Amino acid sequence: MFNALVLEQEEGKTIAAVQSLNLTDLPEEDVLVEVTYSSLNYKDGLTVTGTLGLVSTFPMVPGIDLAGVVKESASEKFSPGDQVILTGWGVGENHWGGYSQYARVKPEWLVKMPTGMDAKMAMSIGTAGLTSMLCVMALEEGGITPDKGTILVTGASGGVGSLAVSILHKLGYQVAAVTGRESSHAYLEELGANELLSRETMAQAPNPLESPRWAGAIDTVGSTMLSRVLAETDYRGVVAACGLAGGLDLPSTVMPFILRNVRLQGIDSVMCPVSVRMEAWTRLLSDLPPAALGDVTHVIGLSEVPQTAADILAGKIRGRTLVDPN
Ligand code: NDP
Repeated sequence: MFNALVLEQEEGKTIAAVQSLNLTDLPEEDVLVEVTYSSLNYKDGLTVTGTLGLVSTFPMVPGIDLAGVVKESASEKFSPGDQVILTGWGVGENHWGGYSQYARVKPEWLVKMPTGMDAKMAMSIGTAGLTSMLCVMALEEGGITPDKGTILVTGASGGVGSLAVSILHKLGYQVAAVTGRESSHAYLEELGANELLSRETMAQAPNPLESPRWAGAIDTVGSTMLSRVLAETDYRGVVAACGLAGGLDLPSTVMPFILRNVRLQGIDSVMCPVSVRMEAWTRLLSDLPPAALGDVTHVIGLSEVPQTAADILAGKIRGRTLVDPN
């Protein structure tokens, strides 16, 4: 028997509770993983609270990330004892996920733990860190080197935002951070932010073009904030858009694209090809200072997940949250 957080539907409402399960309760997949850590992302906030109806079937074990040790494998790609990471692929939404002491998963969802990384570090990074690295790689692919100018990060105290600030600082970029929390200012400066902007100002509806300020941007917020970011991005700048913490609309015009050659690059970590994930995980090992991870991460148990899930949607969580199912 082992413990897992299980979501069930009661009268149209999603109820989350820790339950004792048997290994035979797990879905039939080829690899059995003993989970060392999972993590809590904004999307986990959505699934655990039943917001937006992301979960397709019930009962569901949520948790879009997990890291652990292979216990059994019917796939020749993995052997018992292998340390593995899983992020995305709809796990924790359509397939049972990481808020559990054990998970059965498909081998093609797993990435071998890079040498020099352990489960705690991998989950301190998690989907949020992978996404922030993918955003930085998108800026680089668009030719945005540190000498081009300042990079703006929105939703900066969040999981993606905090890690993006840390990575950009380590790589030598000047970083401007947008936050709605004055209490985060010192924290963001410690991570490497050179300039702080208020969420309120940046969420004002922009003119089609504003004075250019940013060589590039990583946007986790969407909506009017993203339209302002686009309107303020400099000639041939790149905006990597990955989130919707402020809304899923985009009230913009084509002017930044046709007059300033601005590139809006979408970022998805869920279905990201394995080769790109491997590159991103390897880059995270070298480009994300371990000290920054210690500063951004706190640990909770399974029973604390429902309240923390509500808190992340309310914008009350700073940095990254590790989930220890054991
Ligand atoms: P967090 O909740 O940790 O961070 C979001 C941050 O956005 C908050 O900390 C807050 O920062 C800011 N924020 C919150 N509410 C609002 C609001 N109403 N208006 C403006 N800013 C707001 O979430 P994550 O970092 O885990 O995820 C960030 C976003 O990225 C989410 O929308 C998530 O769904 C998305 N995402 C997408 C992925 C992909 O593959 N495309 C993968 C991972 C995440 P502050 O207080 O500093 O303003």
